[in-house]
Amino acid sequence: MLYRLFSNRIAASVVLSSLLLACANTTRSGAVGINRSQFMMISSAEVDRLSAVSYNEQNQKAKEKNILVTSGPTYDRLKTISNRLIQQTGVFRDDTRQWNWQLSLINAPILNATCAPGGKITFYTGLIDQLNLTDDEIAAIMGHEIAHALREHGRERLSQAMAQNLVTNIAAVSGYGSSANAANQVAQYILVLPNSRQNESEADAIGLELAARSRYNPQAAISVWKKMIKATNGKTSPEFLSTHPSGETRIEQLSALMPAVEPLYLSSPRVTSK
Ligand SMILES: [Zn+2]
Repeated sequence: MLYRLFSNRIAASVVLSSLLLACANTTRSGAVGINRSQFMMISSAEVDRLSAVSYNEQNQKAKEKNILVTSGPTYDRLKTISNRLIQQTGVFRDDTRQWNWQLSLINAPILNATCAPGGKITFYTGLIDQLNLTDDEIAAIMGHEIAHALREHGRERLSQAMAQNLVTNIAAVSGYGSSANAANQVAQYILVLPNSRQNESEADAIGLELAARSRYNPQAAISVWKKMIKATNGKTSPEFLSTHPSGETRIEQLSALMPAVEPLYLSSPRVTSK
């Protein structure tokens, strides 16, 4: 399928760079042992840049609607948890200290949370309130979302789409524009379309380790998924589950990882705050 890309000189340079970038591994394996080669066709910098455009747009819209929360107890709670998790991301890769990490809390009855490439975290109050999440459970979800960003799953999915010629606006995506159209197309691949089961398992494993190393009880990953499953029995399917297929298999996999992460949890230094 790649031959069609060669018809375009700009795209050809993208393909050339893909030869250099193919078989990347974005993270160290950690205690949970995630070690899969990834096919990458577009640079991290480019994906991060386009994601930032989309993230800023999301925040601007929320601000206009007066639903962007930037202070108060829930925001402070999330900030503390995110700081603790972010401190541990160096276990998996070296560059996260240079990332421009951001946290957005949006006051809306939506059961969703995301972390866009480059460390742009979004939480909705609906997720925290409706599932009555504990700090450990918030850390489980946030750790999972941060893990997607660390593994650059969005960049990987975008690369796969480009290889299949599914992304029509390749010139824009590959660095020749920053139009909202290109950014939205990227956001679609990164945040809206469901992740593969493989990516989900990787994010579960790395998220579990991040939480445990940050002294959040890793067992909360199991309780939170049980809450999620219960929530799907209601009338509406939560947004989070439309991108995060749930089920017993996931809980079984998480349970199997507990012996690897519980020692990290028990030996992690006590955190006073911040
Ligand atoms: Zn996920």
